[in-house]
Amino acid sequence: MGRFDAISGVARSVISLAVPFRCAVCGDGTDPRARWPLCGTCSAAILERENAMAEARRCVVCGKPLCSERGICMRCRSTSYAFDSACPLWRYGGELRSLVLEYKAGRRSLAGFFSEAVARAVRQRYPGRVIVPVPPRPGKMRRKGWDQVEDIARMLEKHHGLEVARILVRADGMQQKALGLEARTANMLGKVRVEEGASVPVDPILLDDVLTTGATLSACAAALKLEGASRVDAITIAAD
Ligand SMILES: [Zn+2]
Ligand SMILES: [Zn+2]
Repeated sequence: MGRFDAISGVARSVISLAVPFRCAVCGDGTDPRARWPLCGTCSAAILERENAMAEARRCVVCGKPLCSERGICMRCRSTSYAFDSACPLWRYGGELRSLVLEYKAGRRSLAGFFSEAVARAVRQRYPGRVIVPVPPRPGKMRRKGWDQVEDIARMLEKHHGLEVARILVRADGMQQKALGLEARTANMLGKVRVEEGASVPVDPILLDDVLTTGATLSACAAALKLEGASRVDAITIAAD
């Protein structure tokens, strides 16, 4: 961390956006030849967390680590989702949380790092299956100019040879953040649909950034199943 310790997260983001060879997590200098802006210490810590997540006892539905439960977490016991299973790569916390926030704030070079991890997981867990990215809110591309899920999807196609089908669209709903799980699910119903005329893979893999309540993934999976998919699994960067 060094001299950036005393600087607030926001200030650090501004600095790292302006200075390309600063680690996206701690702000220390990085190797300019590296494929993404992470120092050795932060990369190691993040990869270690990914391993810990992969080895943890996890809920067979949402993929979140289990505490004392067996097989299925408390939430998934009382909720039914349209997706069959989800596989978050990391827990949303620590360095990983800083990394996701930095990425969403505009450090687009981090898409390479995330797509590498997603590609590895897809090859291991879901070989040969087609990726369907969770679509951005309407108008987001126009307002922000880019979408964090789409950037990763593009890299999966371009650098990892995975097939991506952009077949979901969504209409504007209320801000999801302010709502509880039930309200979120209701809010999402009918808000996602398959693009007219699109052909739906039989067992697509949804791709999203952070799994929170699962309502968005569930709405996407429901839309895909309505149009013929028989099994829908999901992969996300993290689970909150
Ligand atoms: Zn670092
Ligand atoms: Zn669960």
